Amino acid sequence: MSDWLKKKEVLIKRATEDIVNSRKTITLTGAGISVESGIPDFRSAQGLWSRYDPEEYAHINAFRANPEKVWQMLKEMMELVLGAEPNPAHVALAELERMGLLSSVITQNVDGLHQRAGSKEVIEFHGSNHWLVCLGCGYRREASSLSLEDIPPRCNNCGFILKPDVVFFGEPIPWEAQTKASEEARMCELALVIGTSAVVYPAGEIPIVAKKSGAKVVEINMEPTALTGSVSDYLIQGPAGEILSKIMDEIREKIS
Ligand code: NAD
Ligand code: ZN
Repeated sequence: MSDWLKKKEVLIKRATEDIVNSRKTITLTGAGISVESGIPDFRSAQGLWSRYDPEEYAHINAFRANPEKVWQMLKEMMELVLGAEPNPAHVALAELERMGLLSSVITQNVDGLHQRAGSKEVIEFHGSNHWLVCLGCGYRREASSLSLEDIPPRCNNCGFILKPDVVFFGEPIPWEAQTKASEEARMCELALVIGTSAVVYPAGEIPIVAKKSGAKVVEINMEPTALTGSVSDYLIQGPAGEILSKIMDEIREKIS
């Protein structure tokens, strides 16, 4: 076995110990956890985000200026999300929660895959694709009633083009999500940071708050991030589905 694989196995065992011994564990997830479900993250070179620059298409000013244009991107994103299924990483986190080993999932994702995998305590930091809102009059409706021919959807009251209830760049984080996430970060003993580059703020502050409050911070990511070597105690490098499945195998063996 190569040194690299040996190191990975050692870290998987270390994470297992850390999870089993922690009295309160939280996780912060990002777009990387849904990549194995077929939804691209912002950093990959191909896919949706090579054609739509997030700074241009995911900014609230872009939506206000030209909602039809932004809906071209949203339509493709919604098609991808509708066709996606939770992967072993989402399933593992739901199982950890059922075992009483995970307090909450704080997610930057808007794809609803944690809930579909069975997680109950999900804090949606950037809102969700589940609702559509009117920036004109506040009208809301469920996105499940939306057909793809109906795009861009319009408000029944005032005719404005509706916006998915996700947090665009330039918009504030929902107050309740921010408050709950900060509290979880302050109170935890272990924070698992999975599939996020942690450069989008204020979500990127959650691991820092956890660390300052005395928690261990463990990253699972394909590559080092801004947290690696400074905020996180260690990084387990690889695809989240594979790493979390191995951790779950170790945990089941340990507590059976
Ligand atoms: P990001 O694109 O900045 O970073 C993704 C991270 O995941 C990278 O560090 C990458 O190395 C890692 N990664 C990629 N594939 C992985 C895998 N299989 N296993 C483990 N790690 C993997 O994403 P972010 O940090 O979440 O920030 C981007 C913003 O974009 C967020 O606010 C999020 O709301 C939004 N977004 C959401 C979705 C979604 O809902 N699925 C998709 C794209 C973007
Ligand atoms: Zn309206």
